[in-house]
Amino acid sequence: MSGLEATLSRIRGRIEKYPRLEQKTPQYECPKCRDTGWIEYEDANGYQFAKHCECWEVRESRRFMEQSGISEEFQKKGFDEFDTRNNPQLVNAKYKAIEYARTFLQFEHTRRNSIMFCGQVGSGKTHLGTAICGSLMGRNIAVCYMSYRNAATKIKQVMLDEAVYSRELQRYMQARVLYVDDLLKGRITESDINILYEIVNFRYMNNMPLIISTEKTIDGLLEFDEATGSRMIEMCRGNIIQLQGRELNYRLA
Ligand SMILES: [Zn+2]
Repeated sequence: MSGLEATLSRIRGRIEKYPRLEQKTPQYECPKCRDTGWIEYEDANGYQFAKHCECWEVRESRRFMEQSGISEEFQKKGFDEFDTRNNPQLVNAKYKAIEYARTFLQFEHTRRNSIMFCGQVGSGKTHLGTAICGSLMGRNIAVCYMSYRNAATKIKQVMLDEAVYSRELQRYMQARVLYVDDLLKGRITESDINILYEIVNFRYMNNMPLIISTEKTIDGLLEFDEATGSRMIEMCRGNIIQLQGRELNYRLA
């Protein structure tokens, strides 16, 4: 075998050994924009423009969730990983969560488009909220994650800077879906009431969905602030899962 033949035969052998490596065509998550988030288009006069692809919002919220550490939780906190421990309340909660995620597009723009898990500490409320977000994100429905305590603290810190304050609030007001985790946890001040009212009222007026987890009860929410509480309750009507009883606390099990 000549030197050239030997080389060719070696290459052929390698191609057969690693066929996918040699023939691989790029696989894009979004073939429309080839994962750039941008699409070029031409107007009627032939001018070229670039605009955000429809996958942009999902990419943005995914990035935001990665920063907040919640994207790792998606792996651990899907519906399959939720253990009902054969408790009827938890079985029902899981069923409601799955149904909500499954049928979301049917009611997204209606008044009753939200879901709330409330009550007992350690019963898996955050897990179910996270599982819904994961399911929606998996179908390219952008969800904005709001860790209530961190977000409220941050917003209060920037209150005197009107531009920054407004930008922070807008993020939560405008998101396609807003997941508020541990709503009203911690000490609540007058500013907290006002901030929450602004966000909730905007979303209420515009039929924009909320996913809520909170240790408060329904009565507790109304006591905290009737204007905000009653709006949230109306948005979640039919999907308010109130968990009661210390036996639901997995940390004590
Ligand atoms: Zn795209």
